[in-house]
Amino acid sequence: MPKIDYVVSEKVCTACGGCEAICPVGAPRADQLRSEIKHEEDCSNVNLFKEECSYCVDCYACERVCPILDGFPGDDEFDNVRFVKAGRSPMPGQDGGVTSQILKSLFEQGEIDCAFGLARNEKWETEVLLMTQASDVAKTSGTKYNYMPIISGMKEIIRDVTQKYEKIAIVGCPCQAHAARLLKDNLTDKITIILGLVCMESFSYENLCQHIIPDMMELNIEDVVKMDFAKGKFVVTSKTGEVKRIPIKDIAEFARDGCHHCVDYTAYYADISLGSVGAGNGWNSVIVRTEAGEECLSKISELELTDDVNVDFLKKLVDTKHKNNAWNYKDFMERVWTIGYPNRIEHLGYEVPWKREPINIQKYSLQAKSD
Ligand SMILES: Cc1cc2nc3c(=O)[nH]c(=O)nc-3n(C[C@H](O)[C@H](O)[C@H](O)COP(=O)(O)OP(=O)(O)OC[C@H]3O[C@@H](n4cnc5c(N)ncnc54)[C@H](O)[C@@H]3O)c2cc1C
Ligand code: SF4
Ligand code: SF4
Ligand code: SF4
Repeated sequence: MPKIDYVVSEKVCTACGGCEAICPVGAPRADQLRSEIKHEEDCSNVNLFKEECSYCVDCYACERVCPILDGFPGDDEFDNVRFVKAGRSPMPGQDGGVTSQILKSLFEQGEIDCAFGLARNEKWETEVLLMTQASDVAKTSGTKYNYMPIISGMKEIIRDVTQKYEKIAIVGCPCQAHAARLLKDNLTDKITIILGLVCMESFSYENLCQHIIPDMMELNIEDVVKMDFAKGKFVVTSKTGEVKRIPIKDIAEFARDGCHHCVDYTAYYADISLGSVGAGNGWNSVIVRTEAGEECLSKISELELTDDVNVDFLKKLVDTKHKNNAWNYKDFMERVWTIGYPNRIEHLGYEVPWKREPINIQKYSLQAKSD
């Protein structure tokens, strides 16, 4: 049984979709709340002429891309930061539009040939969008605080026999940036750039758009044009310009289970992390963490970058998230990595046993077929 089973049963799954992306047989499926993994017994009553049922063949590939099983970054989320700037762009966006501008500019220069992001309709129902050209980027503009397993989208790219896409950008919350980093380290170096979004929490569609906004804030979801978190409040703006606010503490309990156990605020594993906290209105805080991130940012046209960013405030919110979501994940890691057979732990702590040497997924596909 793969260790992701414990991640799910102990309600710490982020629903990033990493396991779904890598599984060679399609056993896990992530939705907005968690992954569900099918085992052989789940398929015993299925009529295979009518219904597809792919079950786990214990290859353990998924364990290598699960952000929970890899472990959280630790207390100092700034120990890999190269520099922090405030940034804005001409693109319309949630804050300074820097995320959209980076994607647009990379498409225009041929530096990427596809990118994953999240689009929404009038009812704020979301879908993972595979962007393939600069003109697609605007479709994903703005923050949706309801969650989708963006990394699941990588499944199609990994399986695509034509290998159509070679230079992939991924935008996502810290958990998704982490899964993308693990996919890059373990499976595919086609992920060119990982843009992480600073993130305190996210919600299911039902809790956010069918309860908090209509019931607690008395707004019709189809009238909402923007959602934001600012100064301790959840702020919703309607088409008519009406602005409604509710204290974050009143809605925090409705966040997803995985978010209550998440201790990565600034997307530690991204190449560039983007947020609003620490920067002025209409600006982004832009946190550059890797050489790829630094190189990428230097190529982006039409960006205004300044040093006017309050890093201490960002760090304060890192501490707040760590304090609010404190749980004994070191104990969890030690426990799950030593349960059952085969015992795959070498170090007690959170270093993964295989130390991220790349895996060959073809090998597992063959195993799956012969089973
Ligand atoms: C759930 C969530 C919580 C956040 N919490 C904070 C916070 O506490 N403090 C803070 O400073 N910033 C937070 N942010 C980040 C902030 O809201 C902006 O996304 C960020 O500043 C980038 O702004 P922008 O103007 O560059 O974005 P834009 O140029 O408008 O681009 C938005 C990008 O975000 C992607 N996106 C939108 N919604 C989601 C989603 N649910 N999951 C994955 N990708 C998505 C889109 O695909 C698009 O690429 C949060 C973001 C999310 C998604
Ligand atoms: S088949 Fe492999 S990748 Fe898929 S769920 Fe099972 S252990 Fe994980
Ligand atoms: S890889 Fe992501 S979706 Fe899968 S079990 Fe881990 S956290 Fe959940
Ligand atoms: S708080 Fe943000 S990064 Fe953490 S699990 Fe929730 S959505 Fe993912």
